[in-house]
Amino acid sequence: MGQGVLTHYAEFLPLTPATPRITLGEGETPLVRSRHIERETGGEVYFKLEGCNPTGSFKDRGMVVAVAKALEEDSKALICASTGNTSASAAAFGACCGLKVIVLVPQGSIALGKLAQALIYGAQVIAIEGSFDRDMEIARGLADRHPFTLVNSLNPYRLEGQKTAAFEVIEALGDAPDYLFIPVGNAGNITAYWRGFQEFHSREKSSQTPRMMGFQAEGSAPIVRGEPVADPRTVASAIRIGNPAHWQNAVTAGKESGGGVEAVSDDEILEAYRLLANAEGVFGEPASAASVAGLLKSTRQGLSLEGKRIVCVITGNGLKDPDTAMSQAPEPTVFPPDLEQIEKAIIGAPGSSSWTRP
Ligand SMILES: *Cc1c(COP(=O)(O)O)cnc(C)c1O
Repeated sequence: MGQGVLTHYAEFLPLTPATPRITLGEGETPLVRSRHIERETGGEVYFKLEGCNPTGSFKDRGMVVAVAKALEEDSKALICASTGNTSASAAAFGACCGLKVIVLVPQGSIALGKLAQALIYGAQVIAIEGSFDRDMEIARGLADRHPFTLVNSLNPYRLEGQKTAAFEVIEALGDAPDYLFIPVGNAGNITAYWRGFQEFHSREKSSQTPRMMGFQAEGSAPIVRGEPVADPRTVASAIRIGNPAHWQNAVTAGKESGGGVEAVSDDEILEAYRLLANAEGVFGEPASAASVAGLLKSTRQGLSLEGKRIVCVITGNGLKDPDTAMSQAPEPTVFPPDLEQIEKAIIGAPGSSSWTRP
């Protein structure tokens, strides 16, 4: 327990004896059975809670490998462009390893919790006007000119680390599920899961590979539309990406697995976001809810999941984006410190019963 991805999965990762086995306790995240949403699908539904990683998203699985290799190669600094979670993760691993971290974020469109993380871990945070896609070009340009290690998902070690989530799913279920529902932004994660499922299948650790069901947000769905989106828009900031780095890999994962990449609207994302929290007790960030929105949409459109095992990846912790949570829930009501008045507000007038949840 708690050994971290590098130690636990050493034999599946591109490590050498000189790779430092750093860890912040990433990986080994829970796979939790649904108690409510599952009934709407007829299948067995599980949530892979990647928000339980040390900085609150799956990015830690890949970052630990990328940073260990950067140390091995004697790099002095990490650089990334980020919609938030990559920068939080890079900042944390950079801090623990004594590396300088430079993060480029889109001005005004990164969730509050993620910005707070990058800042308190001590990264140099540069906010740039415009969208993420332009930040990515600048980060690549800087990494070309200086001995900085680029730790975006273009860094091949990131995907190697991220594939370990697929290993854990297989180990927890005793086999691969029939379907994997996953949000798609830069499409690194769907690529990594597909690689992980294929790898364990080829080593006979599973009898099958799942259908990979990727979901973009409608306002930033370049893969679904078949062309880059110049001004991507969605409430789900972690997948607000107009020109994904792993575009082709995502298409391939969809095709080869018998799944595909589709879009869900912001309304569908927010419905799934609230439902996950108030019917399952799972608080994911809006981008994470795209997987569940995709599951609900597919079911409502007639996809038969009777008797199937389904995993939805909940990619990041809901606490990262408190502004969206506050906008999606009622305000608390304010009372004077008066027991009778408060009691009346809770249980209603005498004789009425509001002791059971509707
Ligand atoms: C990064 C991220 C995604 C998107 O993953 P990609 O690899 O870019 O497709 C989805 N959800 C959360 C919470 C993320 O941090």
